[in-house]
Amino acid sequence: MIPITLSWFVCLYLGVFLVGMILLWMGYEVIRRRSEGISNQELVHCRICDSRYSDISTAELPHCPACGSLNERPSRRSS
Ligand SMILES: [Zn+2]
Repeated sequence: MIPITLSWFVCLYLGVFLVGMILLWMGYEVIRRRSEGISNQELVHCRICDSRYSDISTAELPHCPACGSLNERPSRRSS
C-alpha cells in the first residue's frame, strides 16, 4: 500500500506542478500579448517629457497631454 500511495503522491505532485507551470506560462503570454498590442496601437512615448499616453485618434502626430508637443506614433504593423 505504501509504494502505491507514494507513486500516486509523486504523480499528483508532478501533475500539479505541470498544471501550475502551464497556467503561469499562459498568464505570461496573455500579459505579454496585451502589452504588446497596446504599445503597438495606442501608446505614444513623448520624447520631450518622457511620458506615455494612449492616443486612439488617426492623427499623424498626436499631441502630448502633458507638455503639448507633437510626437511620432510608434510604427504600426501592417495587418
Ligand atoms: Zn510630453
